[in-house]
Amino acid sequence: MRKLTGNTLLVATHNAGKLSEIASLLEPFGISVTGAAERGLREPDETETTFEGNARIKAHAAARATSLPSLADDSGIQIDALNGAPGVYTADWAETADGRDFEMAMNKAHDRLLASGAAPPWRGRFCCTLVLAWPDGHDEVFPGTAEGQIVWPMRGDHGHGYDPIFQPDGYCVTFAEMAPDVKNRISHRADAFNKLVKLCFD
Ligand code: IMP
Repeated sequence: MRKLTGNTLLVATHNAGKLSEIASLLEPFGISVTGAAERGLREPDETETTFEGNARIKAHAAARATSLPSLADDSGIQIDALNGAPGVYTADWAETADGRDFEMAMNKAHDRLLASGAAPPWRGRFCCTLVLAWPDGHDEVFPGTAEGQIVWPMRGDHGHGYDPIFQPDGYCVTFAEMAPDVKNRISHRADAFNKLVKLCFD
């Protein structure tokens, strides 16, 4: 496992929210982060069929372009009764001509669950894979998950994306009903980050 030795990391995202979330997670380790937009990088096409594959595309493209160690993530929700869908297409299910509509995406998931004939509880998980890539082509991969069930109707106003229909194991509230700091402690992203920090940072 390769350790991060410098103190600057490129975070391969154009999403300002993700960038500041990652910056605050890494601040205690004395690491300053710079974003893909700040460096004028274009967003590569995510052409792989796995979270790891897409995160690797983003991390390696950024590391090559900037000569800096680069961190990328790819995430989504897998629903067992839908054979793992939407998976890497989680964001695509929300696309409309006017931007992303997650209420529509959650309705789509529920409609497909009903059409599948599967009886609740509907098992599923949020996944997040982090990839840290170096300019010489080396990388380290950290997969994170949060196991739970898909519930209906939608519940809660916090969070984003599919949070209102995901109830993590051990809780009787959805991600969208939890205080954000509770979700951020138990989420798929926290799981992946804990592994990254433990293995790559001192
Ligand atoms: P990406 O990793 O930025 O491509 O996002 C993948 C998709 O998964 C987005 O549509 C997000 O809304 C969804 N997603 C990822 N993590 C979460 C989460 O913690 N809560 C709700 N939706 C999520």
